Amino acid sequence: MGILELSAYEAAEQIAAGSLSGGELFAAYRDRAAADRDAGEQGLNCFTWVAEEAAEESGEGLLAGVPVAVKDLFCTEGVPSQSGSRILEGYLPPYTATAVRRLLQDGASLLAKTNQDEFAMGSSNENSAFGPVRNPWDRSRVPGGSSGGSAAAVAAGLAPWALGTDTGGSIRQPAALCGVVGLKPTYGTISRYGMIAFASSLDQAGPLTRDVRDAALMLRSMAGQDPCDATYLRFPEELVLPHAERLDGLRLGVPAELTGEGIEQGVLASFQAALGRAEELGAQLSEVKLPHAPHALAAYYVLAPAEASSNLARFDGVRYGMRAEAPADLLDMYTRTRHDGFGAEVKRRIMLGTYALSSGYYDAYYGRAQRVRTKISEDFRSAFAEVDFILTPTAPTVAFGLGEKTGDPLAMYLNDFCTVPMSLAGIPAISIPCGLSDGLPVGLQLAGPAFSENRLLDAAHALEGALGFDGGAARV
Ligand code: GLN
Repeated sequence: MGILELSAYEAAEQIAAGSLSGGELFAAYRDRAAADRDAGEQGLNCFTWVAEEAAEESGEGLLAGVPVAVKDLFCTEGVPSQSGSRILEGYLPPYTATAVRRLLQDGASLLAKTNQDEFAMGSSNENSAFGPVRNPWDRSRVPGGSSGGSAAAVAAGLAPWALGTDTGGSIRQPAALCGVVGLKPTYGTISRYGMIAFASSLDQAGPLTRDVRDAALMLRSMAGQDPCDATYLRFPEELVLPHAERLDGLRLGVPAELTGEGIEQGVLASFQAALGRAEELGAQLSEVKLPHAPHALAAYYVLAPAEASSNLARFDGVRYGMRAEAPADLLDMYTRTRHDGFGAEVKRRIMLGTYALSSGYYDAYYGRAQRVRTKISEDFRSAFAEVDFILTPTAPTVAFGLGEKTGDPLAMYLNDFCTVPMSLAGIPAISIPCGLSDGLPVGLQLAGPAFSENRLLDAAHALEGALGFDGGAARV
C-alpha cells in the first residue's frame, strides 16, 4: 500500500514503529496540496494556504508527524486565517485555536488551510471570496459547504484528514457530498476558542476523515477542557477508538419527518439499502417521531443570522484585516470597509439577523425561534427514550452543479434540512458514505444523545465495515 493510501491512524502507527518517516509523508502531501493550489482554476481549489515545510516541533506524540489540513476559520498563529472572506484577507492571528493547538501538541503538523464559504455561511462553497471548490467526484459539481475545501481535500487524497466546523451541517453535508466521514460532536465538547465565530450557540469543530476510526482519533485529541471557552462541557467519559463490527441489540429510529418528502429518489434508495445492512448486523429498526423537525430550518435561519449579525459587528476596519482606503470620516471607513469586505450572502444574513433582533420584532422572531429550538430538543429527548440512535440521509440530494442553486437562497438552505435539527439540539451526529447514486456519493447520518460519541462511533464503525464504501474514484 502506498503511503498516500494510509489512514491517519495507520500513518501514525507506522511512523511510531519507525517504518514510515513523518517528513516523507508530509512532503508527499505538501507537494500534492501545493500542486492543487498552483493549478488555480484547473485544480479543486481546496486550499487558501499551503505550508512550505513541516513545523520544527512536530514529530512527538500520538499523532507523530501526521499532516492535517485545517479550515480557514481556525486561527493559526502567523498563518493567514481569513474565514473565506475579503474582510480578513491577509489577517495573521497572534495565537492558535485550541482545537488546532491540541492536534499540534499531539504531534500533527499543519499542512494547509482549507477553502470554505465566507464565515461558514453556505452549503456549496460558492460563497468563498477565494473562489469555489470543486467536487473531486465530478468537477462540474460543488463539494458541499461550508467545510467544502476540507471535505474535497480528504476525498481527493490531498490530505489524510482535515478539520472543519459545523453550525447547521457544514461538516456532515460536505462529507456526504464528497464521500468521506464527518462528525459534529456534542456542542461544547471541543473548545471554540480561536474559531472565527458564525453562530456561537451552534458552532462546533469536528473531523472530516477517510474512516470512522480516524474521526474518533481526531476527536479524542481535540476534546478537553479549555479555560478560554466558557461553553466548554467536560466530556463525562474517556473517548476511545471504535471496534464494533455488529449492531446486535441496538435500537435504531427512522423519523418519517426527515426521510420522506424532499429527499431525492436515488438518495432514499441508498438510505433504505443501508437500513437493510443495519438490520443484517443485528439492529432493530423502528419509526420515531420528531414532530417539530420540519420547523428546524425556519428557526435556524432566524437564530444563526441573529447571532452572526452580532458576531460580525467586530469587523469594522479598525481591528482586523482590510480597511477601506482614504475614507472621508470614521463612519465612511466603517461602511465602506463592510461594503467592500463582505460578500452578498454574509450581508443578507447580517440584515436578516439585525431585523430579527430589532426591538419591535425580537419576540416575534428570535423569541419564537428559541421556543421552536426547545421543542426540537424535547422531540429528541422523547425519541431517545425509545431508541439508541436516529438514522436519516445526511443531505436531500447528491452533489449538485456549480451555479445551480446560487440564484435561489431558499433552495440552497434546504441542503441542511436533515442536519439542522441536531445542531439546534446540540447533539452529536456523524455522516458516513453509504453508497452511490448516479455515480455520486450518498451520506448516511447517525445521531445520538448528548455525549454518546463512543457508542455512536462504534455503531458507525460497524456500519462502515458492512457498507464497504470505496472512495477510490475521487482520488486525484
Ligand atoms: N449551510 C448552513 C448555513 O449556510 C450551515 C452552515 C454551517 O454549518 N456552518 O448556514
